[in-house]
Amino acid sequence: MKTLPAQEKRCSTDVPTLPLHRCGDGISAQSPPNLEAVRLRYSPLLIAACAGLGACADPLVESDDVTVTSTISEVATSSTSSSTSSSSTTAVATTLPQITTTSVAVITDATMRDDLPVDVTVEFGRSVLGRSLEVIRRGDPNGARVLAIGCIHGDEDAGVDIIRALRTLDVPEGVELWLVPTMNPDGTALDQRHNANGVDLNRNFGVNWAPLGEPGNWQYGGPDAASEPETAAMSRLGELVQPDLVLWYHQDLYRINPSSGVGGQIRARYAELTGLPLLEVTGGTYTGTASQWSRTVTTETGTGFTVELGASLSPAESATHAAAVIAVAAEFLSSTN
Ligand SMILES: [Zn+2]
Repeated sequence: MKTLPAQEKRCSTDVPTLPLHRCGDGISAQSPPNLEAVRLRYSPLLIAACAGLGACADPLVESDDVTVTSTISEVATSSTSSSTSSSSTTAVATTLPQITTTSVAVITDATMRDDLPVDVTVEFGRSVLGRSLEVIRRGDPNGARVLAIGCIHGDEDAGVDIIRALRTLDVPEGVELWLVPTMNPDGTALDQRHNANGVDLNRNFGVNWAPLGEPGNWQYGGPDAASEPETAAMSRLGELVQPDLVLWYHQDLYRINPSSGVGGQIRARYAELTGLPLLEVTGGTYTGTASQWSRTVTTETGTGFTVELGASLSPAESATHAAAVIAVAAEFLSSTN
């Protein structure tokens, strides 16, 4: 697998003022959080999650990473300092026990899908080195659910730009997006395919998993099925979301593997819209892959597949891919069809 040159590492070049591991937050920072949604729909969950997981005090988290507070007085202070003159804002804050000045919330085992707010960054797990794994929900809560993951192999992170583009597009009625910028922030920070344990996350999922390779092997599948925290977290998220479509972005074979049935039609349409050829992906041992796992957590008619991007991706190409995601969801999956 080709290793991209350093200048292709978008997480480290496009968001230079953020720490490397804040790859996904470069996206969320571009859109103000829906604080009202957090206050009204998520506050009790946030309190429980932070108290239970200690997530708000992780030493690897920068001081501005998670600003969830937990007492009324802190809320009042935070609100006063961040809003200049709105008395109504202050009044709301003093009657509610929770506020975020960023928009990070946390998924726990008790979380239900409908608990999760729209347009708010939600932490669904942590990497081996403690970096936040984040998902952002957008669109029609009653729509067909598209789960898109920008990066699983750390040195193949061009797809993060597609997720970034999807943060800004209008989502049509009948479609909902679940956007994961990356499930391997450690790998990107270390400029490597694997996670920090040297495991190929795309061989570590619990469906059709088998021992594969040894530590150091490019496809090392880990000591057990879903042994890695990133894989376990993604597995929980998938079961929670129950998507209709799962998209995984990789580099740099520049193709989409063809298939049959409706899933094959969706792949073909996506390929048509983006200019990618429909060509078989070969050369690896495909046990415990994310795509195979995806098709076990989707709805009955759902599907999941891998998009192999090229060695680089221009902003225009990122926008084209983002539009293609919306288009195939609207054409094949929309709940309004
Ligand atoms: Zn890959």
